[in-house]
Amino acid sequence: MRGRDRQSFASRVREELVRLPLGKTCCMLSEIAALTYTSGHLAFRGGGAFSASYRLEDAGAARRLFQLLKKRLGLSPTLHFTQTSMLGGRLTCVLELNGEDTRSLLTALHRMETDEDGQTRLKRAVPRHPMVRQCCRRAFLRGAFLGAGSMANPEKEYHLELKAEDAQLTGILEKLTEKSGLPCRRYERKGMDVIYLKGAQHIADFLTMIGATRAVLSLENTRINKQLRAAAVRAANCDEHNSEKMLDAGQRQAEAIRQLSLKQGLFTLPPALQAMARARLENPDMSLKELGELMDPPLGKSAVNHRLRRLMEMAEELESNEEEGDGKA
Ligand SMILES: [Zn+2]
Repeated sequence: MRGRDRQSFASRVREELVRLPLGKTCCMLSEIAALTYTSGHLAFRGGGAFSASYRLEDAGAARRLFQLLKKRLGLSPTLHFTQTSMLGGRLTCVLELNGEDTRSLLTALHRMETDEDGQTRLKRAVPRHPMVRQCCRRAFLRGAFLGAGSMANPEKEYHLELKAEDAQLTGILEKLTEKSGLPCRRYERKGMDVIYLKGAQHIADFLTMIGATRAVLSLENTRINKQLRAAAVRAANCDEHNSEKMLDAGQRQAEAIRQLSLKQGLFTLPPALQAMARARLENPDMSLKELGELMDPPLGKSAVNHRLRRLMEMAEELESNEEEGDGKA
């Protein structure tokens, strides 16, 4: 369980996606197309021959692609791992297709054409099914996430992105997310386009669409917890705000009593008010309850409040009398 906690949210999404059923034949082809766009490489072998290879960092995604190529197109890829010397030797899964299989793949994806002279050429093609079928749109975006997707830890940030190595893929991804009603945005990183989504709701919609329903539940939990924590922080700030107001009131009362004392002397007050005035003057920060406890005999909050109000009124009266006097002079 602890190991699972340390696993990134994105890799949990991938883990869920690679276990989904391979789906309908149209969708299988759409997912293959997306994985080919995002993590496939074509090498020219001369004489019109090509060989395709895929590099994927996620072993689960590589296994799924292996299954898709085998089941949908009857291909026999080879699968091996390489360790990059950089980045602490991260393992990369490499899938390779021989010339004949590559030809079958490119034909199935409508990316190879043969001209009148029998010469084969590669062409750039927008995959057809995902553009018109909703089921295939989901499959294509799933493949794109497996091949080039990542997402931030939702505890910290709601951010999901898909890298696009060429402008054509950028266009396809933008169109597909737009058709799905998701407002994606784009920025450039190291000369590469990155399509991204912000906001918990949009990310949840995207994950639902590509079939990561367990991840959506977990995202929803995170969102609720974050909202509860934010509400708790707001409530705490509000308490703080109240006590600041209380402090202000105490300071104002102490100041009014100081003026009263300067202008007419506290000894002129009835004994009960005198004791209260001295207590407040010495303790401007105390709450009403604490002030009441200082009295002999102790007083309740409302009695303290009543006496302080009486003192404030006397101070105000004194001040307005003075102003009147000033007016006359
Ligand atoms: Zn489909």
